[in-house]
Amino acid sequence: MARIVVTGGAGFLGSHLCRALLGRGDEVVCLDNLITGALSNIEDLFGRAGFTYVEHDVSTYVWVPGPVDVVMHFASPASPADFERIPIQILKVGSLGTHNTLGLAKAKGARYFLASTSEVYGDPQVHPQPESYWGHVNPIGPRGVYDEAKRFAEAMTMAYHRAHDLDVRVVRIFNTYGPQMRPDDGRAMSNFVVAALRGEPLTIFGDGSQTRSFTYVDDEVRGFLALLDSEVATPTNIGSDAEHSIADLARMVVEVTGSTSPIVHHPLPIDDPTQRRPDLTKARTELGWEPTVDVRDGIARTAEWFRKELDRS
Ligand code: NAD
Ligand code: UDP
Repeated sequence: MARIVVTGGAGFLGSHLCRALLGRGDEVVCLDNLITGALSNIEDLFGRAGFTYVEHDVSTYVWVPGPVDVVMHFASPASPADFERIPIQILKVGSLGTHNTLGLAKAKGARYFLASTSEVYGDPQVHPQPESYWGHVNPIGPRGVYDEAKRFAEAMTMAYHRAHDLDVRVVRIFNTYGPQMRPDDGRAMSNFVVAALRGEPLTIFGDGSQTRSFTYVDDEVRGFLALLDSEVATPTNIGSDAEHSIADLARMVVEVTGSTSPIVHHPLPIDDPTQRRPDLTKARTELGWEPTVDVRDGIARTAEWFRKELDRS
């Protein structure tokens, strides 16, 4: 049993992570400024033994009284729709927020866990992407605010590991979906499922031939815990390696939800990666982890959740 600080704990992944940690008996201190998160994501955790919530912007400074065993830095907007809306906040939480949370971990003698991303590979020229690939990122494009902040965050984390002997874990997360995504989040999976349920057009950006590998949230969080509990201090891909084109994803969402929505095309955003699939050799061999949820099953579970949410609102 450990006392774990989770930044971004009121967000999509952070809230699932807080729940999983509490479920295995850990104590959780959740820090969030609610810029893209929501208290509704963690409403079931209030009043639960071992859970504390503090509304706080971790880009300013971070301090948590008492002992801390682990700091898990998940705070950061993650949807491409947010990259143009709140670019400076994204750069700050990836840089200053990472520095502040590393400082907390160092002061407490805690293990540090960084939520990084497949976006560090940019528009990859190596496929699938092993952790050894250095990536192909446009630093000054609209996506650069996120990609470069995460690349800086990884550099800073590994520097603390080398210079201060900090015990670190770095997960490179691939597109993850499931209950608790924001309906207006802007990501492909939530946009498609919500549009399908509302009978509105599904909007494919570009011709839909670009690919992604979609991971169901339960698999992803199980991967976080496997990495957290391991001795692997270098970046590790956690994501599904079942690769789908965006056009296929749109068709699957329509089929699985039984929707009559049409599929339409909009222009492709600047620097949109053409392909993405993790090489999972490291996760499989060093963590014994692999994804289990088939994407059609995951879409069905996600749609069931969104259906209730849309009814509720
Ligand atoms: P999210 O937007 O749902 O969650 C992010 C949370 O961080 C929100 O609750 C937000 O309010 C909070 N936050 C942002 N800036 C903050 C700040 N300065 N101080 C305190 N809290 C702050 O996004 P998510 O999809 O849950 O992503 C969580 C983490 O996982 C992020 O670091 C993201 O980069 C990473 N990630 C997610 C995906 C994915 O597919 N969901 C893929 C790769 C990486
Ligand atoms: N996309 C799309 N329609 C949407 C939202 C996204 O076609 O309504 C495309 C987007 O251009 C990208 C892919 O789907 O090629 C995945 O986008 P998402 O925002 O989910 O994640 P990311 O681009 O960060 O992988």
